[in-house]
Amino acid sequence: MTLVIRNSTELQEKVAAWKRSGMLVGVVPTMGALHDGHLSLVKTARAQSDRVIVTIFVNPMQFNNTDDLAKYPRHEERDLTLLEAAGVDVLFAPDVTEVYPDGFATTVSVSGVTAPMEGEHRPGHFDGMATVVAKLFGMTQAGSAFFGEKDWQQLQVVKRMVRDLNLPITVVGCPTIREEDGLAMSSRNVRLSAEERALAPELHRILQEVAAKLRAGQAVESALAEARAELAAKGFGAVDYLDFRSGESLAPLEAFAENGRLLVALSLGQVRMIDNIAV
Ligand code: AMP
Repeated sequence: MTLVIRNSTELQEKVAAWKRSGMLVGVVPTMGALHDGHLSLVKTARAQSDRVIVTIFVNPMQFNNTDDLAKYPRHEERDLTLLEAAGVDVLFAPDVTEVYPDGFATTVSVSGVTAPMEGEHRPGHFDGMATVVAKLFGMTQAGSAFFGEKDWQQLQVVKRMVRDLNLPITVVGCPTIREEDGLAMSSRNVRLSAEERALAPELHRILQEVAAKLRAGQAVESALAEARAELAAKGFGAVDYLDFRSGESLAPLEAFAENGRLLVALSLGQVRMIDNIAV
């Protein structure tokens, strides 16, 4: 039975009782419209914790595009059914006013890892994300939190924030779950037309192609340029970035390195897609 809680005091009382009996509490923060990517985080959380909280909150503060916020898919009832089946103890789904009550005046702003890529193309996004994640950590009082590598830069930002603020929580990164054809699962994929959906997996294939070229010693700049040309030729829209960077510091890499990661954001029709792979 998954208990639905919308009030943070009620949630904190529940968690305090669990902790008094020595239980480890894990949290999986999400924006809902759940898919197998989210459920894999739940599975890992279940394996590593005695009690699991999933949060669903479409955080207005992290959307820099009002249309993206308005069109973000919401299916709470279906989500709850999936969470029941996955053995989640609590679904915490607060209203906007519960998270941002009158007088709310604090922003958590991480510098450094937030500067490139998403930080450059979605102004304010990481401040909104870090602020709500800090809030969710405070509201849930969980001992560990599970995030997907799908949002690689986000994962690095959360880890940085937790270290910098000594937050008493362990951040666990979980691998990206893909469709059989390689497309990274995302709540936004439902907004792809049939034609766009058929093209979408080419993105992962091209990333793998670049990774192979880098491993074989091809210069980074030329491998990335070839990929950009191929993406355009296949019919993808504007590429916000396609970068090869250190996985942790996110500093650009000039040549193949063990911890290197390829990260991309581009548009396909009305949808902005992001993906990344290890090289
Ligand atoms: P979202 O609901 O998109 O905010 O995502 C909630 C969490 O699920 C984040 O930690 C994401 O990185 C993670 N996530 C989203 N898609 C995937 C995926 N395909 N595989 C693994 N984790 C994912």
